[in-house]
Amino acid sequence: MPVSQFALDPRERFAVLQRHHAADIPRRQAELLTLLAAGLSNHEGAAVMSVAPQTIHRHSQEARLLVVPPALEPTRDNAVAWAWLHRNCCLATEFARLWAV
Ligand SMILES: [Zn+2]
Repeated sequence: MPVSQFALDPRERFAVLQRHHAADIPRRQAELLTLLAAGLSNHEGAAVMSVAPQTIHRHSQEARLLVVPPALEPTRDNAVAWAWLHRNCCLATEFARLWAV
């Protein structure tokens, strides 16, 4: 990732995520990935996003199919690993605050 990307406005991060990694990812799934990148559990993510655990489970299942590389199993652990790799670019923690305000 280019250094200049760290200076992106949080609203630009979603565009970066879509442009470079997952063109069709919905915002709620991107938000969940951001929370996973920050180390939150599904249960904690549900609380932050004010949704039911079943909703988080569905977001997690759909998001992992979009971001885990095809050569890997689309498991939650692989999605968390992918999210962690992007914690300083498109999934930087402040990205999640977009939806919290
Ligand atoms: Zn990224």
